[in-house]
Amino acid sequence: MKRTTGTDRTVTRNWRSATRAVRGGTWRSELGETSEALFLTSGYSYEDAETPAARFAGEEQGMTYSRLQNPTVAMLEERIALLDGAGACRAQASGMAAMTAALLCQLSAGDHVVAARAAFGSCRWLVDNLLPRFGITGTTIDSADNDAWERAIRPETKVFFFETPANPTLDVVDLEYVCGLARAHGITAVVDNAFATPALQRPLEFGADVVAYSATKLMDGQGRVLAGAVCGSEEFINDVLLPFQRNTGPNIAPFNAWVVLKGLETLSLRAHRQSENSLAIGQFLEGRVPRILHPGLASHPRHALAMRQMEACGPIFAFDMGSREQAFALLNALELIDISNNIGDARSLMCHPASTTHAAMSEEARAEMSVTEGLLRINVGLEDAQDLMEDLDRALGRLNM
Ligand SMILES: *Cc1c(COP(=O)(O)O)cnc(C)c1O
Repeated sequence: MKRTTGTDRTVTRNWRSATRAVRGGTWRSELGETSEALFLTSGYSYEDAETPAARFAGEEQGMTYSRLQNPTVAMLEERIALLDGAGACRAQASGMAAMTAALLCQLSAGDHVVAARAAFGSCRWLVDNLLPRFGITGTTIDSADNDAWERAIRPETKVFFFETPANPTLDVVDLEYVCGLARAHGITAVVDNAFATPALQRPLEFGADVVAYSATKLMDGQGRVLAGAVCGSEEFINDVLLPFQRNTGPNIAPFNAWVVLKGLETLSLRAHRQSENSLAIGQFLEGRVPRILHPGLASHPRHALAMRQMEACGPIFAFDMGSREQAFALLNALELIDISNNIGDARSLMCHPASTTHAAMSEEARAEMSVTEGLLRINVGLEDAQDLMEDLDRALGRLNM
């Protein structure tokens, strides 16, 4: 295996983003395949007994076991690290495996976490239910209130954890302020960047320490596999994340890594086109539905900030139909857009968060996050925006809206 990117990482670091997305991290076997090889192997064999001894002792580079290294997975990790501008990255089996690893690898009993209250249901579950079982307390706050972050800090605060934009209410966090505050207090800022991906937003450039992904979403981009990733400094990945990951095993399967690796080649194209479509659909719906939460529209309370932090608005937004009855009626009237709780897909998908992605949390927690009974979340895909608007127009017409 030869790294076509060269062993000198300063060369690849100078590549611009589009080049990194297509070529970053590529290794080639002696066969010279152009498309990255898929190594479906759990183990590796050695020429002699000294080789594994040297590898396990850390004296020699090389593969030993796929919970520790796999060439296809390594290509994905190098490519994501390059796109994010991170020192290193480790891929995980899913977005939730990534979030769990990013938190548990660095937290201990007695530590405290400050988290945004608007979050993906399972991310809130980690903070509200899992961490407390291990003696790690959490405070959830309105992430759009900069002062609330500072007020929540305690001497034992170790981590800030948030999404921006957040799932499903599209709350936007001031990355520069919040990550700067974390740094000033010796707190690690962990950003879930699933909605934007490095194609639209690179939190490390704003001072974040750790960036975690559900690569299931826009990175795969075609709704095929579950995948996740954690990026950070080489020191964080090697000294903090790896001991946890290697011994607990939330690893991604090589096949899934390969699918996402191929997805990254078109990530930027898809993210930008889907953002354009999302903006067009948002403009079409604004005024026609009672309330819309869209970072690309001037009506979003943090529109200007979102557009400073992000290259484009992203494919996902939410809007309120006023009641569960009206929301369900709209979903049931759709003909082109699918009813589905996935996001990041090339297909347009719509879901009712209160009864799906956020159904497991308490009514109070949903109310606090503004996940109302009428809220719908849409992922705008790569279809022709005109066809999507006609589908919505027809569906809203049936509701006399
Ligand atoms: C989907 C999602 C996750 C979880 O990712 P999985 O790949 O489904 O495990 C975490 N955070 C956010 C913001 C998400 O949208």
